[in-house]
Amino acid sequence: MQLLEERIRKEGEVIPPDILKVSSFLNHQIDIGLLDKMAEEFKRLFDPAKVTKILTLEASGIAIAASVARLYGVPMVFAKKGKTSNVNDSVYSSQIWSFTHNKEYTAIVSKKFITKDDFVLIIDDFLANGAALKGLVDIVQQAQANLVGAGIAIEKTFQDGGANLRKQGIKIESLAMIESMSVDAGITFKR
Ligand code: 5GP
Repeated sequence: MQLLEERIRKEGEVIPPDILKVSSFLNHQIDIGLLDKMAEEFKRLFDPAKVTKILTLEASGIAIAASVARLYGVPMVFAKKGKTSNVNDSVYSSQIWSFTHNKEYTAIVSKKFITKDDFVLIIDDFLANGAALKGLVDIVQQAQANLVGAGIAIEKTFQDGGANLRKQGIKIESLAMIESMSVDAGITFKR
């Protein structure tokens, strides 16, 4: 998506070796207009008639997932990040390794909000090594719901999460795919 790539090029900050900061439009200050345009793009890629629920992870997935959910006219559910002690019979839970914080946490979704009748589209801001997406897929599978696919704002294809999860047959669509990035050479997008 050209508009997103332009914003990444203009405002993205590379933190070596492999973190991209997009705090000015996606992760801290949020450009709602841009997010709404990204949601339109996801609508083109994933048929809204086949989606009953949007699933994301708190906190940075919520804004983009909310835009998508409004456009699709379905509820958005976010997995809460918690401690293992919060796990009980009324929730689905999955252990996720945080790439940005270098520690493990438990993602939790109430069994009330995803059921076997749901067709779930996962939305997240970044795809790197795939731990976050794998955890969300695990929760959809525990609920025996139908996984429609995953819509990602920014995928870093030099990390192997996307390749591994696509190999498992999951439909993943990313609006910007970063092939390489460095402070000196800048950012290269995959076409
Ligand atoms: P993964 O689990 O695929 O390794 O990483 C995905 C999660 O980590 C995303 O939910 C996102 O919040 C965070 N993340 C991974 N890479 C980046 C990055 O380069 N920049 C930012 N801001 N977040 C990232």
